[in-house]
Amino acid sequence: MAFLLIHPALKGVAGLFASRGKELCLVGGAVRDMLRGKVAHDWDLATDAQPEEVRTIFAGAHAKVIPTGIKHGTVTVLRKGRSMEITTYRTEADYSDGRRPDQVSYSTSIEEDLSRRDFTMNAIALRLPEGKKIDPFGGEADIKARIIRCVGDPAKRFSEDGLRALRAARFAAQLSFTVEARTLAAIEGALETSAKVSAERVKDELEKMLMSRRPSIAFRLMEQTGLLLLFLPELARCRGVEQKGAHRFDVLDHSFLACDFAAETDCPLEVRLAALFHDLGKAATKRVDDSGEVSFHRHEAESEKLSREILCRLRFSNAVIEKVCHLTKEHMFHYTDDWSDAAARRFLARVGREHLADLYKLRRADSYASAGIAPPANYLLPLAERVERIVAEAQAISLKDLALSGRDLIAAGVPPGKIMGKILDELLEAVIEDPALNERGRLIEIAFKLSDKFAGR
Ligand code: ATP
Ligand code: MG
Repeated sequence: MAFLLIHPALKGVAGLFASRGKELCLVGGAVRDMLRGKVAHDWDLATDAQPEEVRTIFAGAHAKVIPTGIKHGTVTVLRKGRSMEITTYRTEADYSDGRRPDQVSYSTSIEEDLSRRDFTMNAIALRLPEGKKIDPFGGEADIKARIIRCVGDPAKRFSEDGLRALRAARFAAQLSFTVEARTLAAIEGALETSAKVSAERVKDELEKMLMSRRPSIAFRLMEQTGLLLLFLPELARCRGVEQKGAHRFDVLDHSFLACDFAAETDCPLEVRLAALFHDLGKAATKRVDDSGEVSFHRHEAESEKLSREILCRLRFSNAVIEKVCHLTKEHMFHYTDDWSDAAARRFLARVGREHLADLYKLRRADSYASAGIAPPANYLLPLAERVERIVAEAQAISLKDLALSGRDLIAAGVPPGKIMGKILDELLEAVIEDPALNERGRLIEIAFKLSDKFAGR
């Protein structure tokens, strides 16, 4: 099939270019997705018109032209409720920083523009308005064979731009494609260039890997090529950390499986990250006793510390960092029917109601990844129901639930001062243990005793 069906909105835009004697092609992910039989999620366009001319072409055409990447010849056009990126054909010169070409020179040929693109599947153009395919590097055949292959010499392409190696791993996970052998082999030789990629770009790629259908495809490729050791050494070190007991896998395979399960069960980014990082601390905390028993005492605290280091280094937002660290720190709960009510209240107080659903998801992924067998969807239901009962009965689990405040205690004659905070914390613990104590008179009585104790009387 030489022609693909072109959206009428694109035909309209192509008409504007044609009336000025300019070319317009659909390029990049949109063409790749159409050839895979999927609907394109955004439109990247390429033209022989220079950015200034693009602006002129849209003047009077009810469009807004924003110079989003003008240094690289890219403008964003908003028209009839749609957004598209239009980039002038380019050839690229030297890449001394391993990330961006030193200078951008415009070209008048789409073939030349396609030759600077990363992978054959991304180097196909559809000439508009008719939709004729231009595929100089056999991209369509590679898409059919589900192969990611560099345009040109892979060693050269990866050493020009270190981001491409991460993109290869990311696309493999997003599309379930394999990376062609020569392309894969060239990644290792260009790790020095990949090391120069900015933290923000690495984070963007990792996020896309995590949000793909099977993140482990990307992470295994990263491990195989040395990218994992480069960007996530804490995770790479989990290879070969054997666990025994109920576990069938070493810590790294366990983490990959947990992350895949979180992806499969449609978990948000934070849960996927926590699934990947929750056992990082096992490498450093592993102990084997005389009888050969393996333990990882308090590994969750170490995992939390390492997760924070990684996420800060990669410039994740504070909200993501705090959520992932909290889930990681709390992932080691083991509910049994004989938990006391107080234990259930302490669990709720520690985790926080707003984090429960995500923590259950993480626990389920973790449990799956121990033996590779999915636990029933409702296996945490007994705990969840019990916790919901505590919430419904409005049992006290935080300071604001106490029957009195610090101000009330002072008014009752408890001396103010630094120990007030400690007194309130202890009152809360007492109430979580025994809800019947949550009553003004009884709390004031306990507060006086505590005040004496803290003052050493
Ligand atoms: P998606 O938008 O689904 O992530 P995409 O292929 O459209 O995938 P973009 O990052 O939007 O990816 O880039 C658009 C196109 O620009 C790519 O298809 C590719 O042709 C080219 N491209 C992007 N990044 C690079 C790069 N680092 N090196 C070479 N070409 C690139
Ligand atoms: Mg795109």
